[in-house]
Amino acid sequence: MSDDIPARVARLLHHRKAGLVLGDPIVPPVVLSTTFHLPAAQGASHYYARSGTPTWDSVEAQLSLLEDAETVIFPSGMAAISAALLVTLRAGATVVIPSDGYYVTRLFGRDVLAAYGVTVREVPTVELAGADFAGVDVVYLETPSNPGLDVADIRAVASRARAAGARIIADNTTMTPLLQRPLDLGCDLVVAADTKAPAGHSDALFGHVSGRDSALMDRIREFRRQSGAVPGPFEAFLVHRGLETLELRLSRMCATAGLIAGRLAGHSRIRGLRYPGLADDPAHGIARRQMADFGFLIGFELADEAAAEAFLAACPLIDQATSFGGVHSAAERRARWGDRVAPGFLRLSVGIEPAETLWSAIAAALDVAG
Ligand SMILES: *Cc1c(COP(=O)(O)O)cnc(C)c1O
Repeated sequence: MSDDIPARVARLLHHRKAGLVLGDPIVPPVVLSTTFHLPAAQGASHYYARSGTPTWDSVEAQLSLLEDAETVIFPSGMAAISAALLVTLRAGATVVIPSDGYYVTRLFGRDVLAAYGVTVREVPTVELAGADFAGVDVVYLETPSNPGLDVADIRAVASRARAAGARIIADNTTMTPLLQRPLDLGCDLVVAADTKAPAGHSDALFGHVSGRDSALMDRIREFRRQSGAVPGPFEAFLVHRGLETLELRLSRMCATAGLIAGRLAGHSRIRGLRYPGLADDPAHGIARRQMADFGFLIGFELADEAAAEAFLAACPLIDQATSFGGVHSAAERRARWGDRVAPGFLRLSVGIEPAETLWSAIAAALDVAG
């Protein structure tokens, strides 16, 4: 992690201060107006809400601080991902996407990009660092991958992709800019679903694209204006509030995940355990080099579908829900969405419950699941 992260977190909490005048609210107002006072055509900071609003500005300022890059916000992670791909690709281009990444990104490749004349190649995350990128225009990676938690060496993939003339886009959803910094490791764009840990309370869909090439970021911003993929002001407010506690929540979530993963490792009913923080996890070596902490997601298998469902039903401190990164621990069988995983595979998102209390509930439910 860059050493300046604590300073950035502190600045994030006070980012509005320099712009305040006497009597201004400390918390950014939710500005619902779609239209702004505009007596002359030039020079207004806002003119129509599809192009920008004061509430968006507050969140973009926070995310720009964390990413150390220009940021354009979107109404969901998929809106951010589709914007980044549609802006960097065109008919006749080739994109490499992970075969084991977020499944809707793969569907977008298959149903939208392919229909517009883009060749979509799927490569497993663990094979990306050695893949042949000749003729590839965009390499898209997601690490740790969702849900398998395989890790790609971002610096190695980015430098090989760049040598082949490709742009590199990283989906950093599972890590957030506090735990992993793909732009520092050579990527051109970072995309993320802020629906997850950044919003943090499972009550707002949101996403962003960040990058350090202003001409490219201008195209992303213009794409948002032309496609109309714009976040609502209330969601922006919720994400602004979520980002203020992101560092605090992540430190609890990662610490608890490390503790639980370590205990699951010694449990007789668990197979296929994946957590990049475990010393014997296949991803551990690269994870140590490029991640500031090992995250809050754990993957493991129980004997079969019935055992996995019985475990989930028996644990009162795990929500049976999709998505991750919220304050409540949550888990689900990913096979139900068609992910290429075993029927008894669970992805557990560790929340902010007190660690030992959560572990006791998990241990008891594992006994029931038999
Ligand atoms: C959830 C998720 C997305 C999509 O985000 P939405 O806000 O649901 O559109 C994209 N990538 C990853 C890795 C995700 O986990």
